[in-house]
Amino acid sequence: MKKILKTILIFNYSLLIINSVNAQFTHQDTLRGSNGPGRDWWDVMAYKIQLTPDYITKFIRGSNEITFKATKQPKNGTMQIDLQQPLLIDNVFLNGKKIAKIKREGNVYWINLDKKKFNIPGTGGTEQVYKLSISYHGNPVVAKRPPWDGGWIFTKDAKGRPWMSVACQGLGASAWYPCKDYQGDEPDQGAAIIIQVPDSLTAIANGMTLYQPVHKGKYETTYSWQVKNPINNYNIIPYIGKYVNWNETYEGENGKLDCSYWVLDYNLEKAKEQFKQVPLMLKAFEYWFGPYPFYEDGYKLIEAPHLGMEHQSAVAYGNGFKNGYRGRDLSASGWGLKWDFIIVHESGHEWFANNITTVDIADMWVHEGFTNYSETLFTEYYYGKEAGSDYCIGTRKLIENDKPIIGPYGVNKEGSSDMYYKGGNMLHTIRHVINDDEKFRTILRGLNSKFYHSVVTTKQIENYMTEQSGKDLSKIFDQYLRTTMIPVLEYKFTGDNMYYRWTNCVNGFNMPVKLVGIDDWLKATTDWKTVVVTEGIVKDGLKIDRNFYVTVKKVE
Ligand SMILES: [Zn+2]
Repeated sequence: MKKILKTILIFNYSLLIINSVNAQFTHQDTLRGSNGPGRDWWDVMAYKIQLTPDYITKFIRGSNEITFKATKQPKNGTMQIDLQQPLLIDNVFLNGKKIAKIKREGNVYWINLDKKKFNIPGTGGTEQVYKLSISYHGNPVVAKRPPWDGGWIFTKDAKGRPWMSVACQGLGASAWYPCKDYQGDEPDQGAAIIIQVPDSLTAIANGMTLYQPVHKGKYETTYSWQVKNPINNYNIIPYIGKYVNWNETYEGENGKLDCSYWVLDYNLEKAKEQFKQVPLMLKAFEYWFGPYPFYEDGYKLIEAPHLGMEHQSAVAYGNGFKNGYRGRDLSASGWGLKWDFIIVHESGHEWFANNITTVDIADMWVHEGFTNYSETLFTEYYYGKEAGSDYCIGTRKLIENDKPIIGPYGVNKEGSSDMYYKGGNMLHTIRHVINDDEKFRTILRGLNSKFYHSVVTTKQIENYMTEQSGKDLSKIFDQYLRTTMIPVLEYKFTGDNMYYRWTNCVNGFNMPVKLVGIDDWLKATTDWKTVVVTEGIVKDGLKIDRNFYVTVKKVE
C-alpha cells in the first residue's frame, strides 16, 4: 500500500513537471516537434529538391517533390508541410493536380486535400504512392554562428569568391526547403538534390552524382546528386564554391567503398595530407560499429565554411586541416591532438545519428553520446586501452550537470549539452559494468544492425543494451540521462567491517563498481551493505576504478 501511494505521488509530481515544461513552449513548437494529425497519416518515401540560390541577393528559388504513402485517412483532410518564414510557397500540386486551398500558420502550411478529388488513401488494395510538388521562394534565414545557430551561409572564401552552404540541425531543414520537418520520418528511398549555379562554381550535395553536370544557357550549370538510403532532413545539404575533388576506394567490411573528397582549390595539398586519416577512421569504426552504413551512397568529406556537421554521405569539414578540435585537445590528455576531431567525430555520426536516428531530439544523446564515445574508441584502436580511457576521463571536466541529458518530448527541444561528455562517460562506465570488451563491441555492432537505417527512442537503445549485456542497466541510464546527480559511494568502518552504500542517486540505484588494485567488486545498493576489511581496502581512502564516473565519500 505504501509503495502504491509512493508511486501515485511520483506520478503526480512528474505530471507537474510535464505541465510546467509545456508552459514554456508554444503551439508552433508542438507542431514542429510532434507527430501531429497533419503528419501521422503519411510516410515520406523520397524528396527531390531543386534549387537555384542567388549569392548577391541571398535569395533562393526552388521546389521539392515529396513522394509519400498514405497509411490512413487524413484527419480533417489536411496535411502539414513545414516551411519557415519568410520563405513562401508558390504552388502545390498533388499528382499533377493543383491544390487551391493552402493556409499558412507561422512556420507551417496546411494543405487542404479534397477527399473526392484525390481519393486518399487509395482504395485500390495496394498502397498508393502520391507525389506532392511544392514550388517556393524567398530569402532564407541566414546563419550568424554556424553550425550552432543554423541557416544559409553566403560567405566568401579566402580569395574573395562566393562560398555557400547550409547548417540547419536544430533550426530545421524547413528553414530552406518545404518538408515534413520531423526527425521521426526519414525519406525511405532517399533524396535527390539538384542545384543550378553560375558556371564558375561547383555544387556538391549528399551521395553520388545522379546526372553529369548539365550546362544550361550560356552561364549556368546544373549539378545533380542523390542518396538512395534514408536520410535526416537536416543532413540534406548543398555546398557551392570553387571546389576541386579527388577520390579513393576503401576496401571495407562490405567491399569497395567510394570515398570522395572536395575542398577549395587552394587547400588541395593540405587536404590530401590531412584526409589520410579517413581510411584510418573507417577501419577503426567498422571494427567497433560494423560496416559503414551507406556503401551505395559512398563516403564524402567536403570543406565547409563552418566547423563541421555530420551531413550524411557529405560530411562537412571546417577544422583547418589541423589535428585536435581547432588545434586544441578537449581532453587535455594529449591524445586529442593525435587525430583530427572533425574527421573522427562527424564521421562517427554516420553510425550514430545517420544510421540510427532518434525520433525526437530530446533523445539526442543517442547521437552525441555514442559519437563522443567514438572518439575514445578511435584513440583506443590506435593507441591502446589506457590511452582511450585517458581521453574519455579527461573530458569529464567539461561536464556541467546543469540539467538532465534527455530533454522535454514533443517540442523539438534537446536536453543538456552534457549529452556529449557525460554521455560518453556514461557509456564508458557501462562498458566497465559489463566488464567484457568483446561483448561490449558486439553490442555496439548489434545496435547498428538491429536499428539499421531506423528511427528509435532512447528506451529501445537502453532495453537493447540491457538485454544483450545480460545486466539490468536501467537504473544507470535513469541516473545519468534523467538526473543531474553523480552517484556518491559512501563508506565507513566499524571494527573489521566496512559499510557502503550509494547516495545522491535514483531509487533502487544498484551499479556494481570495481576497486583499484584488487579484483573485488562492491555490489552496492542504496542500503548499507557490509564487507570484511581485507588488505586491498585501504582504511583512509577507498579507491574505485577511475573508469566509473562516480564519487566516493568517507562518512563517520
Ligand atoms: Zn556531434
